[in-house]
Amino acid sequence: MSTNLPKIAWIGLGIMGSPMSENLVKAGYDVTGFTLEQDKLDRLTAAGGTAAGSIAEAVRDADVVITMVPASPQVEAIAYGPDGILENVRAGALLIDMSSITPQTSVDLAKAAADRGIRVLDAPVSGGEAGAIEAVLSIMVGGAQADFDQAAPIFEALGRTIVLCGPHGSGQTVKAANQLIVAVNIQACAEAVVFLEKSGVDLEAALDVLNGGLAGSTVLTRKKDNFLHRDFKPGFRIDLHHKDMGIVTDAARNVGAALPVGAVVAQLVAGLRAQGDGGLDHSALLRAVERLSGARI
Ligand code: NAD
Repeated sequence: MSTNLPKIAWIGLGIMGSPMSENLVKAGYDVTGFTLEQDKLDRLTAAGGTAAGSIAEAVRDADVVITMVPASPQVEAIAYGPDGILENVRAGALLIDMSSITPQTSVDLAKAAADRGIRVLDAPVSGGEAGAIEAVLSIMVGGAQADFDQAAPIFEALGRTIVLCGPHGSGQTVKAANQLIVAVNIQACAEAVVFLEKSGVDLEAALDVLNGGLAGSTVLTRKKDNFLHRDFKPGFRIDLHHKDMGIVTDAARNVGAALPVGAVVAQLVAGLRAQGDGGLDHSALLRAVERLSGARI
C-alpha cells in the first residue's frame, strides 16, 4: 500500500510483535518485518505486510524502526554490528524499542544511535497478548518530546494509555515498576485461589465478587480463566518475568530502594523456572503456591 504515512520496519514478531505489527498494517502503515521464525513472517505477509530476509533488508527504506525482542542481549544483537539496525538504517530515522530491557541498555543505545543521527525512544508496553491484539496497551516512553510527538500516531494504533515518562531509559524504569506490581498481584491472587479452594468456596463466584471490590485488578480480570482452568499457555512467559524481576531488583538496588515483597516473589518466579515451568504463563505462579500447600498441581 502506498501512503503518506512513515514506512515501518518491525523486528521481532513474537507473541507481542505479531499482533502489534498487524495493528499497524490495519491502520494503513506499510510494514516490513523480520524475525527468526518463518511462520511468523508468513503470518505478517498474510496480514498485508512484507517479509524481509534480514534486518538490513527490513530497515533499508524505513522511516521508523520498531523492535520487540525478548531482552537486552537481543536488542544489542539486532541494533549493533555490521548487520544491525544502526549500520543499515538511514540517518534521521526514528528507532522505537518496545522490548522490556534494562534502563541502562536503552540509555546506551540512544547514545550510540545519536552518534549516527538516529533518534531513539524506549517504549515498553503493558497489557499482555490480549492488550496487544485489542490495541489497548499502556505504552511508557522515554526520550525526547519531539520524537514522542512524531511517534504518537503510531502509538495510538497500538495502545490506549500513552505517556512520556522522561528522558531515555525512563520508559524502562516505569516498566520495571509495572512488572514488580504485576508479579506481586499475581502471587496474591494465586495465594487467594489456593486458600479459597482449600476452604471449599465456589472459586468462580469468589473471584467475581473479589474483582468488583478493592481487591479487583486487571490481573484478576485477565488471568481469572487461567486460574480457574489451570490454563498456563503463554501469554507472558515465566522466563520473561524472571528477566524482568532481575531488572527491577538491580535497578532498585542502584537507587537504594528496598523491595522486600518483590524479592520474595522474584525467588518464587526463579523457583518455578528451576522446576521446568519457564515456558508457562506467569499465572503459573499458582503452581508454586500449590506445591507449597500440598494442593493439586
Ligand atoms: P517472544 O519470545 O514471543 O518474541 C520475541 C521475538 O523476537 C521472536 O519472534 C524472535 O524471533 C524475535 N527475535 C529474537 N532475537 C531476534 C533477532 N536476533 N533478530 C530478529 N528477531 C529476533 O516474546 P514476546 O512475549 O513477544 O515479548 C517481547 C518483549 O515484550 C519482551 O521484552 C517482553 O518482556 C515484552 N512484553 C511481553 C508481554 C507478553 O505478554 N508477552 C507483555 C508486555 C511486554
